[in-house]
Amino acid sequence: MKTLVATLLGLCMTYTGFSQPNKPQYTLVITNANIVNVAEGKIESGRLIAISGNTIQAIDDTRKSAQYKAARSIDLGGKYIIPGLWDNHVHFRGGDSLIEANKALLPLFLAYGITTVRDCGGDITPAVMDWKKQIEAGTLAGPRIFSSGPKIDGPGATWAGSLEVTTPGEVSKALDSLKKLKVDYVKLYDSKVSREAFLETISQAQQQGMKTSGHMPYTVKLREAVDRGLDGSEHLYYVIKACSAKEDSITNAIIQSEKTTKPIGLFAALPTIYDTYDQPTADKLFRHLAEKRVSIVPTLFISKTLGEIKETDHTADSLLPYIDKKIQATYAGRIASAKRQSDESTRFSKQFAAKAASLVPQLFRSGVNIMAGSDCGASNSYVYPGSSLHEEIKLIAASGLTPAQALQTSTINGSKFFGVEKTYGSIQKGKSSDLVVLEENPLTNINAIDNINMVLSNGKMYSKKELNDLLHAIRK
Ligand SMILES: [Zn+2]
Repeated sequence: MKTLVATLLGLCMTYTGFSQPNKPQYTLVITNANIVNVAEGKIESGRLIAISGNTIQAIDDTRKSAQYKAARSIDLGGKYIIPGLWDNHVHFRGGDSLIEANKALLPLFLAYGITTVRDCGGDITPAVMDWKKQIEAGTLAGPRIFSSGPKIDGPGATWAGSLEVTTPGEVSKALDSLKKLKVDYVKLYDSKVSREAFLETISQAQQQGMKTSGHMPYTVKLREAVDRGLDGSEHLYYVIKACSAKEDSITNAIIQSEKTTKPIGLFAALPTIYDTYDQPTADKLFRHLAEKRVSIVPTLFISKTLGEIKETDHTADSLLPYIDKKIQATYAGRIASAKRQSDESTRFSKQFAAKAASLVPQLFRSGVNIMAGSDCGASNSYVYPGSSLHEEIKLIAASGLTPAQALQTSTINGSKFFGVEKTYGSIQKGKSSDLVVLEENPLTNINAIDNINMVLSNGKMYSKKELNDLLHAIRK
């Protein structure tokens, strides 16, 4: 062993010893950067960032730039630089006939500075896993993908491609099939799954070291799921139910109703939940969620968009021409159901959404990991990949977080969910060089995230022109 180490050391020394003095050490050196320290809400001015491949090799003072030989140098002239954005809730889906239409959306994420997406379940997993590999290998332009693969649900599930489970044996088979697909976590859904199968899935996934997140049937209490090991809760319906002073009796009534011909659905339960919201219950719950390191994905923008569909004309939306007609056709379902809603129930939905949004700063301050996610994808009308995440971050800020805190929900917190925060989420030596250059300071105005100058993704730099060219190629 000693000889091997000595030989290796010798090799390294030989290598450095013989390296030519003018040979570039780095693929890219960025100078005069205003680094946005998102975790601390501070600007670090006049910095130099030296990058090789897709890793930050050094951070230094721009005045020392003579010491950094690079194949390419960029003087940012005081522009602002943030870690790449993560959209922590997207969907690639719609069946095999929509695979190409979904693939065409990948550049849209990059153009909006989104260098990572967390795919929350769909029915085209083999294609998604193939893109993931190609993106990592640098042969396809798109964001890094973390994917759950197909959702887990009960028999007769709403979403195509779901793995349907009832018995513990079926749960174990479903988890095995997800492992074979090499998914990054398990996405749970609630259209048809029983209370027992839902909790069993969390327990088995926990035993196998697989992370779980998702919806939750209203027959289950959030605490029960969390205590079994649930790692994340998507949307705020399940958190807000657990803030009710009457959660036990509401849950029991729902369980009893399932034995009859008239089960109480989630939406029917919401007015009671809204009316029985209890602050001491909420405070206790938020502390528990923080203690158990549960992540919450509020998805405020999709609620707003769907809530306003009736009164909004989307025909002139600037991103609509970038969405394949076949994906646009999938918007019909949600548009029709929004139009069927009575004015009274639309009013209630908005009231409920406002209450849900008010939980975000409380959760954040309690130490809960909040993750910005847009829920963009086929079927989710007018929630466009890219811009929808920017709108989500702005709504999170508007709910009562500082711009820095709102940025954390997109730049850092997703990596915490996957336990990869040592590699992503801040501009530091040894971390990923997925970076976004902004024209203005996002800490003074969060809208600065809209004004992107340049994106670095997986070791490749995209100038504003190159991003526009990528977009131009997918415009219909
Ligand atoms: Zn979703």
